[in-house]
Amino acid sequence: MNIGKIRKVEIWITNPILSEDGWSNIKSFLFLRTTNSDGVEGWGEAFVLPHREKGVAELILSLASSINEIETLNPHLFSEKAIEICDNHYGLDFSAASSAIEMSLWDMLGKINEKPLSSLLSDNSKDTVQVYVNTWSDQIPDDAALNHRVNNLISEGYKSIKIYPLQNRSPKEGHECIGKLSQITSSNTDLMLDLAVPKNPNHSSELLEFIEKNNTDIYWIEEPYDGLDITNLSSFKAKSSIPIVTGEKQCGVTHFKEVLNRNSADILNPDIAGVGSLVELNEIADLSDKAGVRVSPHCWNSMAIAASAMMHFCASRKNSEKAEIYPDYISASRNYCDPGFNIINGESKLNKRPGLGISMNSSDLSAKSFYYNELILN
Ligand SMILES: [Mg+2]
Repeated sequence: MNIGKIRKVEIWITNPILSEDGWSNIKSFLFLRTTNSDGVEGWGEAFVLPHREKGVAELILSLASSINEIETLNPHLFSEKAIEICDNHYGLDFSAASSAIEMSLWDMLGKINEKPLSSLLSDNSKDTVQVYVNTWSDQIPDDAALNHRVNNLISEGYKSIKIYPLQNRSPKEGHECIGKLSQITSSNTDLMLDLAVPKNPNHSSELLEFIEKNNTDIYWIEEPYDGLDITNLSSFKAKSSIPIVTGEKQCGVTHFKEVLNRNSADILNPDIAGVGSLVELNEIADLSDKAGVRVSPHCWNSMAIAASAMMHFCASRKNSEKAEIYPDYISASRNYCDPGFNIINGESKLNKRPGLGISMNSSDLSAKSFYYNELILN
């Protein structure tokens, strides 16, 4: 399980662009490549929110400078080192930096051992992962545009779709929007609601009342309150017959332990490239399993590296939920990456190549990026 010494760390940040189908503006992604002394390469990705991309790149360079202090480098020892360095001061940007490096070490380890990541994580991994579509758009689609989008997605074979009913809508309008969609989604389409922490905290409960009163069929409700607001999440979960999802902006095992101890969620969605490491995500998933809670990694990231890691993680876990994809991001990611999975008829098939199973073209990536930096290690 030893990776050897890392000789080079490279970082790219991509240009934000309008998606090919015009549905949304795609944010910047941060990719990382580590290369060891034998020339084996590993790819990783950090979950970056707008305006923080270069800050996370700096954190990666700082963290990477300590990587060769570990004598027998592997993802577990790197994760321990990152936790030691953060000294209990967890934060999403630091955790995203450590996630990116650790993800690249898993990719490298898979290549060294000629095994896909899912097989490194489990002896009983699956080949197929159920996915759900995120329909988020910064262009704030009205009900007609959303209906049109959902219709198209269903005709493309997608069976699970997440919407944002409170984006620019009151709880009543949000419920009407759901009602219109229910008329076009068939009984075998699952509808998820992301409330994305409404500015007015009463709106989550008001929407829930409409849903419960009308027995509206909903697969899950996400972020009715901020992930740190465990007290309100617990009381919301207690009055909801629908599974509750939380955790996309939280990191570290301690936080999720508290969420589980206080019975605040049915499904946890730590970000695949922001939680800190796959080692920590696995620990969270083990604790969740014991509590009867499922895990669906958040993936507001590229459909290249982070999404490939997510598919491998979901394939390796028996308590994984559907995996998150953005169909509008797929063609942009294809400009520089052949990912570790293929979406066929609403399902993700893993390609079983070693590591993350991805094939990146770094010159195509550079052509789509506004930032590149490298660190040479001795
Ligand atoms: Mg969300």
